Amino acid sequence: MLLKLLRQLTRAYGYAVFGIYLAAFGIAFLFVFIFPPATLALLFISIFGLLFFNALGFVLRTVERRWNRARLGKGLCPECGAAALSSVVVGAGEMRCGACDARHDAQGTWIKPVVHEPEPVQA
Ligand SMILES: [Zn+2]
Repeated sequence: MLLKLLRQLTRAYGYAVFGIYLAAFGIAFLFVFIFPPATLALLFISIFGLLFFNALGFVLRTVERRWNRARLGKGLCPECGAAALSSVVVGAGEMRCGACDARHDAQGTWIKPVVHEPEPVQA
């Protein structure tokens, strides 16, 4: 449950940070006309906030990877919990779940599935 929540948060993290910055831009734009020093303050908070968000993202990814490695070490899929793991590239440590098709590398990082473009239909 907690791992699932952490996984969703990690995967949506970039979009969430982008949303926060977009909202900050909107607020800063409004304050240009009302109280210009607030815009300047928001600018500097945003710039130094990048360091904070980058560090937070690193911590989230690291915790998720450690959690995934612990489950992979037990032979369980971190995504669905099935014991149906198989090695994709022998020696590279990449694991694929036979039940949900999720892939993880040796460090526990989830590998985004490649979605192939559909072939154009020839008339
Ligand atoms: Zn699975």
